[in-house]
Amino acid sequence: MGKPCDQKLLFPNAKMAEKYTVSYNKDPLVRVPLTYYECLMHSGWHVATEKQRDDNWYTRLQGILDKIASKQRS
Ligand SMILES: [Zn+2]
Repeated sequence: MGKPCDQKLLFPNAKMAEKYTVSYNKDPLVRVPLTYYECLMHSGWHVATEKQRDDNWYTRLQGILDKIASKQRS
């Protein structure tokens, strides 16, 4: 068991993490867009590529919940 988010940036809130990912993803050379997710362990928000994010069971669960929620909305 490693520490999957030690290498990642940590933001104190979602807004700052979002701002970072948006400006990063604006770069036309970016092939794998960044995304951000909440980390309970570090009580903050990390940015990571989609693939990195998928390695995390918590965010995977969150993604499923988000999908369900957006289906219910539409
Ligand atoms: Zn973390």
